[in-house]
Amino acid sequence: MALPLPRSLTPSKVAAFKDCALAFRFSVIDGLPEPPSPPAVKGTLVHRALQLLLEEPPDQRTPATAEECLAKARVELASDPEFAGLGLDAEAEAAFAAEAGVLVSRYFQLEDPRRIDPVGLELKLEVQVGSLTLRGIIDRLERDEQGGLVVTDYKTGGVPPVFAEQQRLGGVHFYAYLCEQVYGERPSRIQLLYLSEPVAIMAYPSEQSIRGLQQRTTAIWRAVERACEREDFRPRTSRLCDWCAFQAYCPAFGGDPARAQDLLATRAS
Ligand code: SF4
Repeated sequence: MALPLPRSLTPSKVAAFKDCALAFRFSVIDGLPEPPSPPAVKGTLVHRALQLLLEEPPDQRTPATAEECLAKARVELASDPEFAGLGLDAEAEAAFAAEAGVLVSRYFQLEDPRRIDPVGLELKLEVQVGSLTLRGIIDRLERDEQGGLVVTDYKTGGVPPVFAEQQRLGGVHFYAYLCEQVYGERPSRIQLLYLSEPVAIMAYPSEQSIRGLQQRTTAIWRAVERACEREDFRPRTSRLCDWCAFQAYCPAFGGDPARAQDLLATRAS
């Protein structure tokens, strides 16, 4: 029996399928729970603080305001189940907040937020391609000084090596495609702002890059369709396995995928 197809593709689902088809199945198709991770929740906190900062009038976007925005974001996050799920004690929570503070302060080394002209923050875009829905949430869409659209994605993890930069830009190329479809205008620039170093990685979408994105996305979707039809999602080991929540069900680690199905059946009954 074929497995149900996912209803939509997002940049993170595309990346997840490419990284490991089996983990994609457990997460996206089966909906197995994954425990929250401190880096992911810290990323949520920093993104929210920067969103609040960019919602301020330009002349208010100072480091002092950013600290206030981070404090406000921390209050919001306190009631978030993902944050509660981390189970941080007071000392770990203080370290978590301090690390988020460093990331927010480093943002100011990358650009002057007073010069940013946002069109949208945490902007949800959706495009229908046949029966497939492509979705994305863009951290920030703005106009540059020449009037061109710029897609910005904040990153709170480590900066990739040079050979992996193009691969990491895949998500923002996807957003550029969504922008072109929704607004009828191709962004003139896409950029990843890595707050940990801090480093900005930029690219300039072209007819060719948009066409390439369409072809890669179509190829991934066909591969997902085939895998669902055949119920054939294979493990692909990499350093990501160290953080994978599904090792207990993964044959590459001596696990049994059938145990995941048992868990799902128990939850459904
Ligand atoms: S442990 Fe590694 S190979 Fe196995 S499902 Fe997770 S990411 Fe894939």
